[in-house]
Amino acid sequence: MALLDILHFPDPRLREVAKPVEQVDASVKQLVDDMFETMYDAPGIGLAAIQVNVPMRVITVDISEDQDEPLALINPEITSKDGIEEMKEGCLSVPGVFEMVQRADKITVKFLNRDGESVEMEAEGLLAVCIQHEIDHLDGKLFVDYLSTLKRQRIRTKLEKENRQRA
Ligand code: ZN
Repeated sequence: MALLDILHFPDPRLREVAKPVEQVDASVKQLVDDMFETMYDAPGIGLAAIQVNVPMRVITVDISEDQDEPLALINPEITSKDGIEEMKEGCLSVPGVFEMVQRADKITVKFLNRDGESVEMEAEGLLAVCIQHEIDHLDGKLFVDYLSTLKRQRIRTKLEKENRQRA
């Protein structure tokens, strides 16, 4: 297992559209395991492979308090959405920023699990929001895209400064 480096906004690599996984082989399982380790270490409740500079359609999620309900979604696809939920969101790629975002409250999502099995499940509330946030990453989209241009520009300026200090 290994901790992976997380890219920070406005890194252009976060804007790539991730490619579907063709086969859930040992390297994909390794990626999933490393992503969980990285996500738990951060700590965060969701991570998309593109955030660790792997442009593949893989996300990890765990909204439990004890970090004991790991959920890996490979090639996730939302097949239905219902209701409206507004929550304050944050992102490991946009550290220190938390803003309200509106999303669907209930979703049905189809994906392959870590064993390569096809799964369809329903999610609501925080889990549904988290999955929608992570799937956005796979399409090069970030939660700051839902904010006003002015707010996004302010966040960009702040993080660019922090990224320079980090480098
Ligand atoms: Zn995120």
